[in-house]
Amino acid sequence: IQIKIAMSVCAKSSGSEKIYNYFLEEIKKKNLDIEIIPTGCMGFCYCEPTLKVVDPKSKEVKIIGEVTIEKSKNILDKIVKNEKIEGDVTPRVNEKRVSLLNCGDINPESFEAAISRGAYFSLENILTNFSRENIVDSVEKSGLRGRGGAGYPTGKKWRALYENKDEEKYIVCNADEGDPGAFMDRSILAGDPHLVLEGIIIGGYAVGAQEGIIYIRAEYPQAIDMLLKGIEDLKKHGILGNNIFGTNFSFNIELKYGAGAFVCGEETALIQSMEGKRGEPKAKPPYPVELGFRGKPTVVNNVETLANITRIFQNGVEWYRKIGTYKSPGTKIFALVGKIEKVGLVEVPLGTKLEDIIYKIGGGIKNGKKFKAVQTGGPSGGCLSDEDLNISVEYDELVKRGAMMGSGGLIVLDEDDCMVEMAKFYIGFSVGESCGKCTPCRIGTKRLYELLDKILSRNGEMKDLNLLEELSITVRRASLCGLGKSAPNPVLSTLKKFKNEYLEKIERR
Ligand code: SF4
Repeated sequence: IQIKIAMSVCAKSSGSEKIYNYFLEEIKKKNLDIEIIPTGCMGFCYCEPTLKVVDPKSKEVKIIGEVTIEKSKNILDKIVKNEKIEGDVTPRVNEKRVSLLNCGDINPESFEAAISRGAYFSLENILTNFSRENIVDSVEKSGLRGRGGAGYPTGKKWRALYENKDEEKYIVCNADEGDPGAFMDRSILAGDPHLVLEGIIIGGYAVGAQEGIIYIRAEYPQAIDMLLKGIEDLKKHGILGNNIFGTNFSFNIELKYGAGAFVCGEETALIQSMEGKRGEPKAKPPYPVELGFRGKPTVVNNVETLANITRIFQNGVEWYRKIGTYKSPGTKIFALVGKIEKVGLVEVPLGTKLEDIIYKIGGGIKNGKKFKAVQTGGPSGGCLSDEDLNISVEYDELVKRGAMMGSGGLIVLDEDDCMVEMAKFYIGFSVGESCGKCTPCRIGTKRLYELLDKILSRNGEMKDLNLLEELSITVRRASLCGLGKSAPNPVLSTLKKFKNEYLEKIERR
């Protein structure tokens, strides 16, 4: 029997270490034939600590949540007496785990566990049998779109770097996840680091880079530890370094740490920060694929994008294209948070209905309250109301509705939430995170914050609504980088869908 215990950040903060140690001690004391496996996030953040009891013969899995010492004792008793164990957590319906397949199921520190799940077999095949051109072609055919924000085609980015004849090139993994409420990238890295490491090496080979760099925020110690251990194992097994798998391809991966500035998720600011400079965006063009890290061509891909790359080459382009929609193939991981019953990490095919994510997968709104809105894409995203519940969640559909995918945070709001307050919260976040380089963003977001504050303190006038809209459009148009360009989104989308809440505050001065 195997007992898999989630040891992710959410699980540890709910006491999973105590449970883990209890099992280890009891098994040793009683000399029981049970294997204890620490894992990454299982996705059931609403009922941590969580564990799985697995019968390796029958493959039967029972999931147990809110585990206490009492429950653990009971589980051990039943195993000893060979009695049936009942799970009390049901797997989420309508989920399709692609990037999260191993997360919460294997020990992320174990190189052998990753190998047993097929890690690095496709890499060996690629390096020995396929040209770099073949790999770039396959990524283009897969239709994979960058999972970090606007959904730019990954194949197009790789093609640009591949065609650049410079001999020194870099591939960067952007692990600077900074949206409030988002924890997808952290969970993949801490739960299945080899999935991403393999994607970086495949990318490095395809674009002709000699070095991969993971830019990760220093607030992610668990993910950092797992990556460092993974890199050490790869070096030990000759999968990093010179002549990988006996080929003439040599490649290394190193980590660079960010200090938690949201703007460093923007690729030019990220590169500046990697070079030890102040993390400020630069005007594009030139794009990083032309002039990037150390002045050399650089491709920047998000964590989830690189996880998808590994899966595409493990299972084939055709397999990948069958998941999701024609324009948005594959799956997307969402951090489902806010006023929702089953808070946690979920992965669904792109094109899944928003209402299915909220009701079928997320269990509906907490305490039987009424759904009001969902904020997608964090501070740069927008909100969707009950009129949008029937939309398919995919890149272009969200943009049509005035929202955006962003990196994958979904914050659910109920009837008690005030949308003007929500807009003020996000603008306040952008004010704090603006790097200050350009005036529309530095001053414009501050003025937007003041206007929202005025309306919320019941001193607003009708003309303030027009000013709010005009200023939002100016900030969007005139700001230099994505942070400023998208900062007014929460204001504009709440003005469009919840104008009544603004009016009510102005009329009842
Ligand atoms: Fe900095 Fe904001 Fe200008 Fe971006 S838009 S460069 S974050 S001031």
